[in-house]
Amino acid sequence: MTDNERWKAVLENDTHYDGIFFYGVKTTKIFCKPSCISKVPLGKNVAYFATVKQAEQAGYRPCKRCRPDLLEYHPIKEIAEKIKVLLDSYFNREKELSKEIGKIGVSYHRMIDIFKEYYGITPKKYYDNLRIEEAKKLLVTTNNTIIDISYNIGFASLSTFYTAFKKAANLSPAKYRKEQNNGIHSEA
Ligand SMILES: [Zn+2]
Repeated sequence: MTDNERWKAVLENDTHYDGIFFYGVKTTKIFCKPSCISKVPLGKNVAYFATVKQAEQAGYRPCKRCRPDLLEYHPIKEIAEKIKVLLDSYFNREKELSKEIGKIGVSYHRMIDIFKEYYGITPKKYYDNLRIEEAKKLLVTTNNTIIDISYNIGFASLSTFYTAFKKAANLSPAKYRKEQNNGIHSEA
């Protein structure tokens, strides 16, 4: 995330970024959540912090209006790691995945932002990769049909599976299986 993006979030009081970063005002030494509705400071007076701790260590006090210090009870790192654990366990079971993610108590958009900010990849991309890796394993180690495999790893349709697989592996699932089983590489 760039300072320009942060500044935009501050100007728009964007709640999606609460907990992702904090901003402090150099002249008052007070720090806020991006969504704070206090008067917007001059851009040149703004300092950004990733955590409450960082802001406090730099000598800033939490704003009494938006109470950024209270967000520390749901640190971003904890949320991001929780999401990752869920993606790792439920990547092939979409319904259960959304149910479990719902329990974390952050909005869908915020969840995406937090995960992306922390891991540099969207949750969808992350679990798509997990699915493809699982598909590769099943293609080589089982005789399951490609339809079964696609279903087992949680793809809604065979065509989305084909598209995602081809994009990731550069060849179709069938060719991948054939190549791996023949021990022939990259001659598709
Ligand atoms: Zn504030």
